[in-house]
Amino acid sequence: MSLTTALPGTGHASDCPPAFHIMAKPRGAICNLDCEYCYFLSKEMLYPGSRFRMASDLLEAYIRQYIEAHRTSEVTFSWQGGEPTLMGPAFFRLAVELQQKYRRPGAQIGNTLQTNGTTLTDEWCELFREHNFLIGISIDGPRALHDRYRVDKGGKPTFDRVITGVELLRKHRVEFNVLTTLHAGNAGHPLEVYRFLRDEVDARFIQFIPIVERANDTGFQEGDVVTGRSVTARQYGDFLCAVFDEWVARDVGRVFVQLFDVALAAWVGERPGLCVFEPTCGTALAMEHNGDVYSCDHYVEPAHRLGNITDVPLNQMVGSEKQRQFGLSKSDSLPRHCRECEVRFACNGGCPKDRIIDTPDGEQGLNYLCEGYRRFFNHIDRPMKLMAAELRAGRAPANVMYQLRMEREALRQTFKVAGRNDTCPCGSGRKFKKCRYGKMQPADYRPP
Ligand code: SF4
Ligand code: SF4
Repeated sequence: MSLTTALPGTGHASDCPPAFHIMAKPRGAICNLDCEYCYFLSKEMLYPGSRFRMASDLLEAYIRQYIEAHRTSEVTFSWQGGEPTLMGPAFFRLAVELQQKYRRPGAQIGNTLQTNGTTLTDEWCELFREHNFLIGISIDGPRALHDRYRVDKGGKPTFDRVITGVELLRKHRVEFNVLTTLHAGNAGHPLEVYRFLRDEVDARFIQFIPIVERANDTGFQEGDVVTGRSVTARQYGDFLCAVFDEWVARDVGRVFVQLFDVALAAWVGERPGLCVFEPTCGTALAMEHNGDVYSCDHYVEPAHRLGNITDVPLNQMVGSEKQRQFGLSKSDSLPRHCRECEVRFACNGGCPKDRIIDTPDGEQGLNYLCEGYRRFFNHIDRPMKLMAAELRAGRAPANVMYQLRMEREALRQTFKVAGRNDTCPCGSGRKFKKCRYGKMQPADYRPP
């Protein structure tokens, strides 16, 4: 069938955006672990009787269509699960071969793979290193915090096996980042988690993902009750603020925390580059082991199935009206509370899957994490403005660390000479002894 002919109910190839992102799941939801909060394990129920292995001819069709659909010089494949390494290294060697077969002259092909790290071997790491895979490792903090929910099928802890995987990646100099989910078990320990990732795992790229897990039997985005494993909005905000304060004091330009980078983009007026904080979404899809394509990795459910790549060309599904509407509904459904919010430019209401509470004036569709987002984005406003100004002036945002140190030192000097009954130099109008600065240790002074 011609790529320029749309099937009924599908889109036109020319409506496909020039770049998009698909999380491909060659083993579907199959995983060797049984993390208690995992949103994907239940997707196994969608394919009863399946072997959950992507066939080589399907892999070839996918790689060809994915490359053809991109109108960019760089094309990145993302492999996820379940646990994608359960396909074995031969599958990914074939994938790399096929990528070269269909690569347009001059185009760059990249691969990212998200793993729980427990299956990694020297052979895997040699393959990753040889073909420049960027590996994402899931780790939730030091042993006790990690093992709280990340257990294997027998309920056994997994920390040691993950650390062995990390050591193998380091030994083979494979590039990796860490993905840390925030949940009831670890969100109360921000500095412990962050310092562990920075100092023990030696991670230079860190993603924090909040667990907002619906309590239902379907595994779909239904209902408005979350499980006790979910992070609360307040915990999430407090966690991000505490980590940000540590990062902005000493790690800018050295450790990259995805959410802080995304926020800086918003403060300089650029697009965040992360679907959760974009005004609209719809360009981050998911593909199951049998070629079924869904609107988003968090909406792998029948109502959001766009079709199968053996029936409908990928670019038609990505450019379909159904997918366009999925992406637009993110902004169309934004409650007034968000539209009038002072940090909307950075938050945009967050991910629709988490919009399950009511606004203070009773409108539906406010994000469950709103309180945390609002606190965090307001908390970082001043340092973000300083970093944005440095960027605009063509200087390194890392200068913010020096600026904040100098400001703090100047404050310390001012407060040092303030008498207990003087008016506080912070401008509050209160007596120094009654103001919060009068009650602080000098090391804790921050600009008002
Ligand atoms: S629904 Fe959420 S996770 Fe999915 S693409 Fe939209 S913002 Fe991203
Ligand atoms: S902080 Fe809350 S009110 Fe503001 S845009 Fe985000 S979700 Fe909406």
